[in-house]
Amino acid sequence: MIDIRVLGSGREVGRSAILLDTGSEKFMFDYGIEVQDGNVPVAPPLTLDGVFISHAHLDHSGLTPQLYSMGYEGLTFMTSATKNISYELLKDSLHVQKKKGVKPYYLPVHINQMEENTETLENGESVKIGKSKVSFESAGHIPGSSQVMLESHKNKILYTGDVKFIDTKLMKGAEKNFENINTIISESTYSYAEHPDRKGLEDRLRTVAQDTLYNDGILLLPAFAVGRTQELLLILKDMGFPIIMDGMGITITEKTLMHPETIRSPGALAEAFGAAGKARRDSQRASVMQKPCIIITTSGMMNGGPIGYYMKHLHKRKECSIVQTGFQVEGTVGRIFKDTGRYVNDGIDVRSHMNFEFLDFSAHTDKNHLIDFYKKLNPEKIILVHGEFTEDFARELKEEHGFDAFAPSNGETISV
Ligand SMILES: [Zn+2]
Ligand SMILES: [Zn+2]
Repeated sequence: MIDIRVLGSGREVGRSAILLDTGSEKFMFDYGIEVQDGNVPVAPPLTLDGVFISHAHLDHSGLTPQLYSMGYEGLTFMTSATKNISYELLKDSLHVQKKKGVKPYYLPVHINQMEENTETLENGESVKIGKSKVSFESAGHIPGSSQVMLESHKNKILYTGDVKFIDTKLMKGAEKNFENINTIISESTYSYAEHPDRKGLEDRLRTVAQDTLYNDGILLLPAFAVGRTQELLLILKDMGFPIIMDGMGITITEKTLMHPETIRSPGALAEAFGAAGKARRDSQRASVMQKPCIIITTSGMMNGGPIGYYMKHLHKRKECSIVQTGFQVEGTVGRIFKDTGRYVNDGIDVRSHMNFEFLDFSAHTDKNHLIDFYKKLNPEKIILVHGEFTEDFARELKEEHGFDAFAPSNGETISV
C-alpha cells in the first residue's frame, strides 16, 4: 500500500504539495505556494527521503526553501532548467514578499540551502532511493517541466504536474507512452473546457498586432515570464514589427536559452530574443512608447511588474490594444480588467479606452486530452488535483467513463 496525502492543490489551483508514503520511504512531490493569497500547504513531516519538483512555477516550487528553514536536510530533485529558472523566481518572490511587508516564509540563506541540496535529474532519468525508483518524464508545460513517476512495492504512480499534450510553438507535447500505471495523480485545471484551435489563436493575435500597429497604436501583451513570453516572441517574430521586452521575461528567456534541449526551436528563440528591444528603466519605457510597437511584459495577471507603468500611460489611447494571453485568477488586477474593463491598481481606478481581447494560450491540457490520456493509460485509480472543479470531474469520470476517480480535499489521504 502507498498512502497519497494531498497537502495542497486539493480542489483548488495553487500550493501543489503531494506526500507519498510507501511504508519504507516518504517523498514530497512539489511544494508550492498559493501565489495570490500566500496560502501554504498542510505542514509536511520533515523526515522525507526526497523532494521532487515538477516545474519552476511558484505554485509548485515556491515554498521548497521553507522546508530547509524548518529543518529538512535531505535532497531536492529537479531538472537543470527548473533549477535555473526557479532560482530566479524564488529570489523575485522573496523580493515581492518584502515589498508587500509580509513576513517572508524563508530567507535568502534557505534558497541557497535548497540550491546546495538540489540534485539535477533530467527528463528520461531516474533515481533509486531505498526500495523506490522515481523518474522524470517531459510534461510539455514550460521549459524544464516534468511528470514524476514513482515505482515502489509493485505500484506505479504517475503525477502529471502541470501538463500539455499538444505541441506549441515553444514546447514539444508531453510524454504519453507509459505502461502499467496503477494510479494517476492528475492536474485538472481545464477539466471543464476545451481549448480553441491553437492555430486560430495565433492567427488572431497576429491580426490584432497588424491592425493595431497599422493604426499607429501600441500592442501591449501582459505575459507570464516563463513560457508565455517566449511563446509570444516565436508567434510574432516574423511580422516585421518592432517587439520590446520588459520585466522578468527578459531574464527568464536568457535562462531558457541556456537549456536549448528543453524547447523545440532554440535557434528561432535566440534570434527573436536578439532582435527584440529591451526596456529596463522608465526613461527607456517612455521612449519606446513614442512609436508603434509590440510590448511583451510581466506580470501576466497585471498585478505587478512594468505592465503598471504602461497601463498608466496607454489606457486612454483608443488606437492601442491590450491582449491578455493567459488565465486570469479571481481577484487579480488582470481578472478585474477582463471582467469590468477597469484598470484598478496602485491607487488608480480608470476605465480603459484601449481595444481589449482575451486569447488564452494555455500551457495546460484541456478536458478532452485529459480523458484521452486516462483512456490510453487505463489506471486503476485517478486522483484529481490542481483544479477548481475536481469533484464534478471525478463524478463525470466515474459515471461516463467507468474510472475510479477521486477529488480529495487538502489533508485527505488515499491509499493505493
Ligand atoms: Zn505550472
Ligand atoms: Zn500549476
